[in-house]
Amino acid sequence: MADTSAKPMNGGDGLHSYTHNSTYQVYISTWIQFFFFFFWTDFVTFNLRWGVNLANSMISEAIAELFDVNQFKITSSNHSFSVADLGCSVGPNTFIAVSNIVESIKLKCQSHGVPSEAIEFQAFFNDHNSNDFNTLFKSLPHDRQYFAAGVPGSFHGRLFPDASLHFINSFYALQWLSEVPKEVVDKQSPAWNKGRIYYTNAPTQVMEAYSAQYGTDMKSFFNARAQELVCGGLMALLIPCPAVGILPSHSPIIALADLIGATLLDMAKIGLVSEDKVDSFNFPKYNPTQQELEELIEENGCFRIVKMEALVRDPKMKEAASDIKMFVPHIRAAWEGLIKDNFGSEIIDELFHRFTNKLLETFTLDHTSFEKIAELFVLLQRN
Ligand code: SAH
Repeated sequence: MADTSAKPMNGGDGLHSYTHNSTYQVYISTWIQFFFFFFWTDFVTFNLRWGVNLANSMISEAIAELFDVNQFKITSSNHSFSVADLGCSVGPNTFIAVSNIVESIKLKCQSHGVPSEAIEFQAFFNDHNSNDFNTLFKSLPHDRQYFAAGVPGSFHGRLFPDASLHFINSFYALQWLSEVPKEVVDKQSPAWNKGRIYYTNAPTQVMEAYSAQYGTDMKSFFNARAQELVCGGLMALLIPCPAVGILPSHSPIIALADLIGATLLDMAKIGLVSEDKVDSFNFPKYNPTQQELEELIEENGCFRIVKMEALVRDPKMKEAASDIKMFVPHIRAAWEGLIKDNFGSEIIDELFHRFTNKLLETFTLDHTSFEKIAELFVLLQRN
């Protein structure tokens, strides 16, 4: 049976690493940085500087408004404060997110007369056990204002002791499932997903199986976080979703995995991979609708939705991101591990070469493609 559990992003700091290919996540969530787009050599630096600006500024605002210095009994005596970033990968986005949270809390405490040196911060970086934590630790910022620790394990289960965290953050990670729904690899099931590796453009039963798996995973996620977060604590999530009213199959960005499937099938036809393997392989990723997420949060009942907002992208950014050759390395950094584990590393270069050609021939990533996907920013407060 194919191994279809989610896999970490590419580790190390090589050509195809996530470290060097994580800027798409950054720039799809900011407006301003695309004005710098054409200064390629400075592109990464600017991206990182502007970072996940929009989400981060919403987080800063929320901390300024909602973070209750009195509730947490933060006084001038020493106090420790814990932040966790779930699905951190190898950086640098995770460091930008954590620093922003730390800075914002310091500011809030200062405004209540608590000197910032009175508070000590502990930051936990979580990802799958097989994530490249060595690369993450090596690139920890030297001037960081927090103690750092790695927490290996799945965020679909418990990771921390009861009521031990004050802030939980997770960017671009909650679209990954804990596993592929069993029905889609069961030949006897009406949801068997033969000849495809994803739910977009598949029969309704396949989509329903994916949605049900997402529901199960997110119930575990919210239950675990409800236990770990202190009362009044905040949780910020950034999740790629289909834009309101858009079917996943009509969102080219979401349906991209389908094209990887079609490329694998092409390769199966000429004997480069086994067709059985393609049939038994499915992508463990699901992009929920806003409504699905809202229902799951409400069902859990432990969190108040402070903000739920689809981030809007600048037209210039959409234009730049539609450069397919620039876009493919991000996809490769994110998906290569999963494909390699199932089909072997020897097919990867050929697969992505063919995938790029297929995209160039058949796919239009224009500004409308980017209107059909939204980065949903969700801010929750523990009741
Ligand atoms: N937050 C980073 C990385 C996003 S990539 C950023 O914004 O750039 C998504 C990460 O989520 C990957 O590293 C993947 O390994 C991790 N991930 C996926 N499912 C996970 C799970 N169940 N538990 C922990 N990490 C998970």
